[in-house]
Amino acid sequence: MEIPFVDLKAQFAAIRDEVTPAIASVLEDTAFIGGRAVSEFETAFAAYCGLPHCVGVGNGTDALALTLRALGIGPNDEVITAANSFIATSEAITMAGAKVVFVDCDPVTYTLDIDKVAKAITSRTKALLPVHLYGRPADMEPLLDLANRHGLVVVEDAAQAHGAEISGRRVGSFGHAGCFSFYPGKNLGAYGDAGAVVTRDGDLAAKIRMLANHGRISKYDHEFEGVNSRLDGIQAAVLTIKLRHLDDWTEGRRHAAARYNTHLAALNLPVAADFPGGRHVYHLLVTRVPNRERIQTALKDVGINTGVHYPVALPNLSAYRHLGHVPADFPVASGYQDQLLSLPLYPEITEAQIDAVCTALARALGRPAQ
Ligand SMILES: *Cc1c(COP(=O)(O)O)cnc(C)c1O
Repeated sequence: MEIPFVDLKAQFAAIRDEVTPAIASVLEDTAFIGGRAVSEFETAFAAYCGLPHCVGVGNGTDALALTLRALGIGPNDEVITAANSFIATSEAITMAGAKVVFVDCDPVTYTLDIDKVAKAITSRTKALLPVHLYGRPADMEPLLDLANRHGLVVVEDAAQAHGAEISGRRVGSFGHAGCFSFYPGKNLGAYGDAGAVVTRDGDLAAKIRMLANHGRISKYDHEFEGVNSRLDGIQAAVLTIKLRHLDDWTEGRRHAAARYNTHLAALNLPVAADFPGGRHVYHLLVTRVPNRERIQTALKDVGINTGVHYPVALPNLSAYRHLGHVPADFPVASGYQDQLLSLPLYPEITEAQIDAVCTALARALGRPAQ
């Protein structure tokens, strides 16, 4: 049985008849940048996050970088973020001109370790940038407490966590702003690059909108220099259609994750647990295994495709050599980088496919199948 790691074809087949006319209508309107489809999506996505404002931008990396810039963060400022994330998170801090300060993750949740964040705060720290990694919300309450005590802003990297919740409240609504990516493989994915920022602060939203559009007030009146990072009409039309399905797709992911977790627990492997009052949206289903290369190859040999998120913790990448870290500075993230294994997961995955993955995994580990 060939089991892909993600299956975008199954999803497209299910919504082809909705999405094709929506794209055609943007073509008829010739509203390629901005326009009705973009404002419709911004309104819908803000409401989905329980916030008054959403600004569509070109991608998730820009969403983060423009938000930091709009919050006045730049040279000589430090921004604390997770040692275990995709490089876009820390890249955005550098793009804003600030200094990246990495902090290790909690060994169970894979999100920022609060005690280590507290120790990393200096007089130059201006912002905390938690990542809701794999779709699991970071522990926002103690982070917000810490931020309030030190007068820091909080920007959420929610690129992997559309619709994730803590006690009924959606991620993106805890900090000063929440930043999303709609890269095609994300839980809410466009058919190209796209991103957005959500916030309750109207002034911040207006500033981000200007920064993303050449610092423009009107066509040729520029208050300051910005960049070109706008959401386009075709992506917005696709996203509006897909947003209507997001909660169903999330239920599919959560259902699949629950079945995986039962198998993983029986194999004595780390599970990807949800937490009380939480809604983990399972962008990725991540466990840890010994001899990962060998396990991945054994699974691949029987048609099962897996991933690794991420094979090198950010501070250990050549890109951050200049920070002078050693792996032991981040014992959890560095210790996990050779063990992390992401199993196939998408809303349409069947129970039979999940069972086949776990049977093959048990065999590769030399354990009896469950
Ligand atoms: C995908 C991703 C981003 C960046 O989004 P792009 O749209 O690809 O620029 C940022 N942070 C995390 C954690 C991501 O997974």
